[in-house]
Amino acid sequence: MLLLVLPASAAFADWFSDARAMMGTEVSVHLWSDDPEAGRLALEEVFQEAARIDRLMSTYKDESEISKINREAAQTAVVAGDELFGLIRRSLDISILTRGAFDITYDSVGQHYDFRARQRPDTDTIEAEREHIDYQLVKLDQTAVAVRFLQEGVRINLGGIAKGYVVERGIDILRGRGVQNAIVTAGGDSRLLGDRRGRPWMVGIRDPRNDGQVAISVPLTDEAISTSGDYERFFDENGTRYHHIIQPRTGEPAGGVHSATVFGPDAVMTDALSTSVFVMGVESGLTLISGLPDYESIVIDEQGKVFYSDGLMQPEAQSLD
Ligand code: ADP
Ligand code: MG
Repeated sequence: MLLLVLPASAAFADWFSDARAMMGTEVSVHLWSDDPEAGRLALEEVFQEAARIDRLMSTYKDESEISKINREAAQTAVVAGDELFGLIRRSLDISILTRGAFDITYDSVGQHYDFRARQRPDTDTIEAEREHIDYQLVKLDQTAVAVRFLQEGVRINLGGIAKGYVVERGIDILRGRGVQNAIVTAGGDSRLLGDRRGRPWMVGIRDPRNDGQVAISVPLTDEAISTSGDYERFFDENGTRYHHIIQPRTGEPAGGVHSATVFGPDAVMTDALSTSVFVMGVESGLTLISGLPDYESIVIDEQGKVFYSDGLMQPEAQSLD
């Protein structure tokens, strides 16, 4: 019998990866571990956590905490768990920061879209439901940990921030298990832990109009990056693209931009900010980001022109074709 003697620590050190369809998108985890068993357990734990958060925060699940709030909060203050309450509070703070571009009450109109079925609300529905879009109609009672809507017809949806939260929680779990190099991704949101073992991660920003093509690659270490694009959930009808990012002021899909990318230290923020910059457009969006020293942004407008926030090196004027 042959005995192989391998250096104990490095023997099975390798990358471990898995991806699963969840939260209406794909969640993936990629990590380095010295121990295959520990690596696989760590992967599994991140997916379990994503499923737990989805059960709490999905408006597509009648039994979720958020669905209960949407059903009852116009009549009575609904006591929420600390976690959901905290994320709603952060959402409202970001609404103030973005002067209403980010607004989780977009869902009074948003609920009438079904992108797979190519369904969209008609003008009358948008007109009527638009009245209920206003983050100031959501009142939080910090002491009672309760949520109340000031109007019948208000609905909230955390689709613009919950994936960032999943990613942030996933990285916390991995860090707690001693993992030092990892990526957790949920849809357009990623958080990088450490580097790619000596080299930065190269994160690709998709070309919004060339499926599967990377428009720009950014080297990143230990950072979060989120992209909001009009190609994620959409349908085209008579030359108009109906997509999932809603301009709260009009109740219609936001125009002017094909994708907005934000990176910085926290995935909850990059997720909400990428949605916000998309809604605000190139100029106001980049002004917002220049006021946030830890965050940078790359915006691709509807002509395919690429714009960079102040803190990034400005390459020669660039255009995708
Ligand atoms: P992705 O879901 O592709 O990661 P985003 O982070 O940009 O993209 O989130 C888009 C989602 O945010 C939409 O599917 C919807 O659930 C929600 N949303 C749409 N418009 C707004 C808005 N103005 N403010 C907050 N959330 C929004
Ligand atoms: Mg987002």
